[in-house]
Amino acid sequence: MTMNRQWLLASRPTGEPQVENFRLASTPVPQPGEGEVLVHNHYLSLDPYMRGRMDESRSYAKPQELDKVMQGATAGVVLESRAPGFAKGEHVVTALGWQEYGCLRPPVPQALQTLRKVDATRVPLSVHLGCVGMPGVTAWYGINEIIAPGKGETVVVSAASGAVGAVAGQLARRAGARVVGVAGGAEKCAAVVDEFGFDACVDYKAGRLVEDLAAATPDGVDGCYENVGGAVLDAVLARMNPFGRIAVCGLISGFNGVPMPIMNFRSVLVNRLRIQGFIISEQLQIWPRALAELEALVASGEMKYRESIAQGIEWAPQAFLGLLKGRNFGKQLVKLQ
Ligand code: NDP
Repeated sequence: MTMNRQWLLASRPTGEPQVENFRLASTPVPQPGEGEVLVHNHYLSLDPYMRGRMDESRSYAKPQELDKVMQGATAGVVLESRAPGFAKGEHVVTALGWQEYGCLRPPVPQALQTLRKVDATRVPLSVHLGCVGMPGVTAWYGINEIIAPGKGETVVVSAASGAVGAVAGQLARRAGARVVGVAGGAEKCAAVVDEFGFDACVDYKAGRLVEDLAAATPDGVDGCYENVGGAVLDAVLARMNPFGRIAVCGLISGFNGVPMPIMNFRSVLVNRLRIQGFIISEQLQIWPRALAELEALVASGEMKYRESIAQGIEWAPQAFLGLLKGRNFGKQLVKLQ
């Protein structure tokens, strides 16, 4: 009998999560019922939001339940279909969580987030979890719908080497903006400029964030794609130009309960800033257009990406903890097959 390995949430973390917060279980591979598909997951996506769901605190989504399979997006192949419109061998992106196999009933009408067929010949399957997936659409929304950079404007992108940040910066540059990244470490910063084509990148770990950001943004900042919060956001606030836009995408620096004091909030008033938070799963209307544009850019080689891929489901917790510490470079995935 083929077994299905799966990671469950064993306990809720206090502060920084530990490997012990997860438990590896093994159950027989499920059989699809009438109207269901059985999917063999080839890739699991690890994302910062998973940290928030490990807590019980109030948020935009329900907490991850204890002793249940960790939630998460997956990409795989249909092994068996008892659902109309799906055939064995087709590639799909869905959200079966931290496990190797899973059954689900395709929603009617098809929902982008719960199950969608993808073309794994045009761009690799894994990329449908990265820049041609949720992180890419997230970047697309914040840049196009909130910041809407004009030619010659300056846009700052934090967590610039990551899955969302790298796409956001490249899209802002394509719109004609001067793009400055913020990332941790000289190696990441060099790649953000050399590989992803940002105009500059500030190493926030070098201990001169305020000075280096000022030097990299001589004309101030018109748009901020914020993935981090805390000291990084505070430094950018001090550089904002009148009528600047800040897309609040993520606040990863505060995930483990670390306080995120803001000293420069006065800039919001003085500069008449527009600050907009958003949750991409609530913006389904833009997904088809964003996915189509991103896929074309990746397929043509105009959009660059990086992936950090852990090999084997047994490494999922370590890879996830690494993501929260910046050990990933680009989209963090686990190869399951
Ligand atoms: P990334 O691939 O960017 O990985 C996370 C990165 O965050 C790390 O590599 C690290 O980069 C950086 N980081 C981690 N801890 C800190 C810290 N304390 N201070 C500063 N930087 C830190 O992840 P994603 O691209 O998937 O996600 C980026 C952000 O977007 C997250 O905040 C996430 O929650 C958010 N998000 C929001 C969505 C929405 O709908 N609003 C949807 C998807 C993502 P470095 O080494 O440079 O520090």
